[in-house]
Amino acid sequence: MTKDLFARHRAVLPDWLALYYEDPLEITHGEGRHVWDAAGNRYLDFFGGILTTMTAHALPEVTKAVAEQAGRIVHSSTLYLNRSMVELAERVAQLSGIPDARVFFTTSGTEANDTALLLATAHRRSNAILAMRNSYHGRSFSAVGITGNRGWSPTSLTPLQTLYVHGGVRSRGPYAHLDDREFIDACVADLEDLLGHTRAPAALIAEPVQGVGGFTSPPDGLYAAFREVLRDRGILWISDEVQTGWGRTGEHFWGWQAHAGSGPPDIVTFAKGIGNGMSIGGVVARAEIMNCLDANSISTFGGTQITMAAGLANLAHLLEHDLQGNARRVGGLLIERLRAVAAQVPHVREVRGRGLMIGVELTRPGTDEAAPEAASTVLEEARAGGLLVGKGGGHDTSVLRIAPPMSLTVAEAEEGAAILERALRSI
Ligand code: PMP
Repeated sequence: MTKDLFARHRAVLPDWLALYYEDPLEITHGEGRHVWDAAGNRYLDFFGGILTTMTAHALPEVTKAVAEQAGRIVHSSTLYLNRSMVELAERVAQLSGIPDARVFFTTSGTEANDTALLLATAHRRSNAILAMRNSYHGRSFSAVGITGNRGWSPTSLTPLQTLYVHGGVRSRGPYAHLDDREFIDACVADLEDLLGHTRAPAALIAEPVQGVGGFTSPPDGLYAAFREVLRDRGILWISDEVQTGWGRTGEHFWGWQAHAGSGPPDIVTFAKGIGNGMSIGGVVARAEIMNCLDANSISTFGGTQITMAAGLANLAHLLEHDLQGNARRVGGLLIERLRAVAAQVPHVREVRGRGLMIGVELTRPGTDEAAPEAASTVLEEARAGGLLVGKGGGHDTSVLRIAPPMSLTVAEAEEGAAILERALRSI
């Protein structure tokens, strides 16, 4: 049945959708950290956490809130008052760390970043953007234009002028051999050099931990050091927290807090799991930036009652159960366990990450050459063993990405690590 569905998918949907697995998976339902396919097989889900499901699949509080709201009303929230949107905006503004914060809700991460770019370019009267090499910011015309990961930037046409900065990837590139302090200094010198050759950009946009790029991050403090350079020139800092927000990185509620030396970013964007399956994206910015547009701008589906009900219930669950602390503790154990396995598998170049955002980079043994076929083998073998993981990376997609729902238990972490160990040994 799934085979037939695959053929129908192929016949009617675009070729550029990147389905996982030779025999693609049809997920039909989930609970907690597990999902089931159409044939009734159960999988431990080590990837859905970063996609749709921040806390747990079919979280009862979210299901109840959504069902009740669906039976009541879904209507425009940008033409009429919506109590749940105001409440979620208040919570997000307060959690954001941005002073005098204003929040605008969108329906995706792409639209959130698009809005951030709209605000930054309007505020600064400039269409030049600084972005990081190997970054991913979404699929709209402007978002692909600033995305540094060429594998996900399917057109070279762009409404923006983009300048790419070094620093998002610690263990590759011209500065990889330097120590952390020297690495930061070299990236700052690179940025200053770039700024010396261009008219004033509107903003720097960066993911604190690059998601699609393979869960890579700079040494702590890089963006604080960039900030010092940017602030003097009035250039804004946009932190794309679509993957790193809400405590996933364990130590911090937002990824930017690893770079907090000079205060919060000017703009934060978020999306993905905050609605636990309902489409929520958003932008947080200081009032003077958010309010700089000189005409109206509304969104039909941004901030609807149903998505906001999901967001409020999901966020309450996250905070009440300290899932950030859980991400720190269980993620820490999982990284340790995977590092021990990696030491015995020659294809593993590096195990990295923070909290429940863990990357396992595979290369041909003893080299820095990407091994995408090894990554595909591990993905298939893990699936056969009952575990779903993701892949990513700018180097021919040879990084395994591990990002379970944030309620992952220690027993589940152990179980997943054991399956992954067998899959890695099968390369
Ligand atoms: N920013 C980052 C960092 C992302 O990882 C993604 C999605 N992979 C996006 C933006 C775009 O989000 P969406 O797919 O919801 O448009």
